[in-house]
Amino acid sequence: MKSHHQVLIIGGGTAGIMVAGQLLNKNRTLDIGLIEPADTHYYQPAWTLVGAGTYDYEKTARPMASVMPKNVNWIKDFATGFAPENNSVSTKSSGEITYDYLVVAPGLTYDFSLVPGLGYVIDKGVVCSNYTDPKHTWDVIKKFKGGTALFTQPTTPIKCGGAPQKIMYLAESHFQKSSVRKNTDVVFATGGTVIFGVKEIAKTLMEVVDRKDINLRFHHKLVAVDGEKQIAWYEMGKEINAGGCVVITGDQDSELKLDETFQYNYKDVKVTKDGGRYGIHYDMLHTAPPSVAPKFVRESSLVNDAGWVSVDHQTMQHTKYANIFGLGDVAALPTAKTGAAIRKQVPIVVDNINLLISQHKMGTKAYNGYSSCPLVTDYGKMVLAEFDYKNNFIPDPKLKQMFISDSSKEHWRLWMLKKYGLPYLYWNKMMKGKEV
Ligand SMILES: Cc1cc2nc3c(=O)[nH]c(=O)nc-3n(C[C@H](O)[C@H](O)[C@H](O)COP(=O)(O)OP(=O)(O)OC[C@H]3O[C@@H](n4cnc5c(N)ncnc54)[C@H](O)[C@@H]3O)c2cc1C
Repeated sequence: MKSHHQVLIIGGGTAGIMVAGQLLNKNRTLDIGLIEPADTHYYQPAWTLVGAGTYDYEKTARPMASVMPKNVNWIKDFATGFAPENNSVSTKSSGEITYDYLVVAPGLTYDFSLVPGLGYVIDKGVVCSNYTDPKHTWDVIKKFKGGTALFTQPTTPIKCGGAPQKIMYLAESHFQKSSVRKNTDVVFATGGTVIFGVKEIAKTLMEVVDRKDINLRFHHKLVAVDGEKQIAWYEMGKEINAGGCVVITGDQDSELKLDETFQYNYKDVKVTKDGGRYGIHYDMLHTAPPSVAPKFVRESSLVNDAGWVSVDHQTMQHTKYANIFGLGDVAALPTAKTGAAIRKQVPIVVDNINLLISQHKMGTKAYNGYSSCPLVTDYGKMVLAEFDYKNNFIPDPKLKQMFISDSSKEHWRLWMLKKYGLPYLYWNKMMKGKEV
């Protein structure tokens, strides 16, 4: 079985659907095939609010058929491999599919083997993750009776690097309401050395950390979880590249003095030492899962040494194959993996594919690494981190129309944007192929 499409897209997530929609809005006659096995499309950014009991999970899901642009040939199947020399992609049951242009956008997947023990306990008992089951997170937060509430993240890149701390700020608020806060230590353990890579945002977040009396532990590389004893094990590493927005900066040479250089706002929580490892005992644990590109991508010739699709940082064109583009979470782009980043990547990919088809040349538009992280800091409060490859703070001028003069400061209007504005924008504009 063999079929051919002018443009073949792998993945019907944020990136794949947006590329298909915008390509068709520019040229109705294009023959586009889109390989996507799932029945349901999720608006994942709202899972943060689901985990805090302030958004319906059901509202984050829509049938894949409802977002799939008309005129796209939906190939309901799994892509399984690449033969870029033959312009061909293999699938689980639809045979080989050839293309003139290929867009690789199957997102990322979770690899629990990178943190032994975590896979056994995730989404069970007191261990939760907004990434895998936000409804369970809310259950854990509601039932929490006090002790150590540990929020953490792996050292791999993750989706929306700010999400592991957003839920912490909301959980802390809930603990106040449920009267367990006074017998609770809230701890955030991360591989980074600052709370956030953009300094304007970090300043506000440190004020939030002070207000909420949160203990920060930096340089903490999550290496294992012992579900039975309720211990998260860490190695202290100064070479760690933390996932997402939280980046390494600061003194790389100091001696390993855990309580001085590695902590902010020390709390005397129970810690066990075992050789070079530090185990933090938890009474609840929230984490992002260790994340990697899907296996069929990792095992292909399309990836860089770290296993992500190797693309030009400005154009998203593959570094080796000129008729292949990669974007979204699967792409090796040195910025935070978010839907907001995809919003800015898509028009450039679409422009380039259109020009290659019509004029056999690339366009001149360049992606500057724009990504954004809506950091909810409380029920009713948010700061909006918008930044580029260099971690410059680059707020959208349109925020002024919403009477938000400084989006690095907590604002109720930004919370309304997160809860109502952005989901509306997503389903009604981004998913409809409109440039926003
Ligand atoms: C808890 C959480 C909070 C977040 N918060 C925010 C936020 O506040 N703001 C923001 O902008 N972003 C946020 N994000 C990140 C955002 O959701 C992702 O960056 C975005 O969805 C990535 O889009 P994508 O198209 O690359 O991948 P996805 O949307 O994950 O889609 C990938 C698609 O590829 C399909 N696929 C997988 N394997 C195959 C295969 N073999 N063959 C064919 N298809 C395949 C999948 O079924 C899926 O439909 C958050 C994510 C999470 C989990």
